[in-house]
Amino acid sequence: MALIVQKYGGTSVGSPDRIKNLARRVARFKALGHQIVVVVSAMSGETNRLISLAKEIMPEPDPRELDVMVATGEQVTIGLTAMALMELGLKAKSYTGSQVRIVTDNAHTKARILSIDEERIRADLDAGYVVVVAGFQGVDESGNITTLGRGGSDTTGVALAAALKADECQIYTDVDGVYTTDPRVVPEARRLKSITFEEMLELASQGSKVLQIRSVEFAGKYKVKLRVLSSFEEDGEGTLITFEDPENKDSNMEQPIISGIAFNRDEAKIMVLGVPDKPGIAYQILGPIADAKIDVDMIIQNMGADGTTDFTFTVHKNDMAKALGILNQVQAHIGAREIRGDDKIAKVSIVGVGMRSHVGIASQMFRTLAEEGINIQMISTSEIKIAVVIDEKYMELAVRVLHKAFELEEA
Ligand code: ASP
Ligand code: MG
Repeated sequence: MALIVQKYGGTSVGSPDRIKNLARRVARFKALGHQIVVVVSAMSGETNRLISLAKEIMPEPDPRELDVMVATGEQVTIGLTAMALMELGLKAKSYTGSQVRIVTDNAHTKARILSIDEERIRADLDAGYVVVVAGFQGVDESGNITTLGRGGSDTTGVALAAALKADECQIYTDVDGVYTTDPRVVPEARRLKSITFEEMLELASQGSKVLQIRSVEFAGKYKVKLRVLSSFEEDGEGTLITFEDPENKDSNMEQPIISGIAFNRDEAKIMVLGVPDKPGIAYQILGPIADAKIDVDMIIQNMGADGTTDFTFTVHKNDMAKALGILNQVQAHIGAREIRGDDKIAKVSIVGVGMRSHVGIASQMFRTLAEEGINIQMISTSEIKIAVVIDEKYMELAVRVLHKAFELEEA
């Protein structure tokens, strides 16, 4: 007997038929003698619908009130899911986040989980119930309803699995696992049997959208065994997200060096050209950007030869105009010659723990891009990732040739 947390995303609860389908799957697991906690998202499209509804009343919705209303999406699906389970003859009980007491901080719309009261759930499980919990929501210490940020039900699932010390947290979604890259771009992309937490984190932060990043961090921190599976398949094994296992690695000599390729078109590049090469410049440029709460991703500064230097960084496309506005105001003070923005860029990253033990991965990546005449505008690296910024019109080509060059289509 195992304790399993199963999280179902919006498409998996998108209609009564799909909810019935979900209930049948839960019943199969229950019949095997497992204890099951189900975490559900709102029906697909519902959270977006609620947010636009709010914006029709208040263009910049009050965060506390927004949480009160968007949390209703999940309140609907927990009730429906519990009913579907009952219709199959199972004992089921639903709870909102605040009923469980998933306690969060008070950062409305992006709250963080502080603690979970798991006793009630445990008592229900022991009494034979399937417990259905609303994803995405919690309650702060003063009793206000909070939400965990878009995609937050993944984090609810993982956090409950951690609190209950579950044997596995299964994330059911509309894809059957984590792929080497997006199959819509590379049809030969392959499902990975397993991937490490670190790789998954890099892929997620580089634009691969299978799981909410925070849920992966959480799972890594609390050592929750995490599996991504399709809710439309009877018995796929999905992708297991796991720890690097040195023993396993030795026995598996053919482990690929690169696990996946991520890409996104969400960023814009900002160039601050001809700034004096002296202490404090990076701070004078990025200080006001940070004060405006604009997230900066890549940062590059060249070594100055003639006493001036160029400073380039990337921000989300939506923040480009704001960032340029801020920099234009401080341009004279900084002494920059010119400030330019470019949002026609894409970022492509290769990720793999095998990079730690293999040399020449970067040069192979750059050669592959060079052979296609693709110019690299920026480069950044971590221990297990190499990311490049290129012209957005070459993005798909770059992903395809890299997928081939690193032989990712081969199992
Ligand atoms: N319903 C929320 C959203 O759409 C949370 C989730 O689905 O994970 O972002
Ligand atoms: Mg989701």
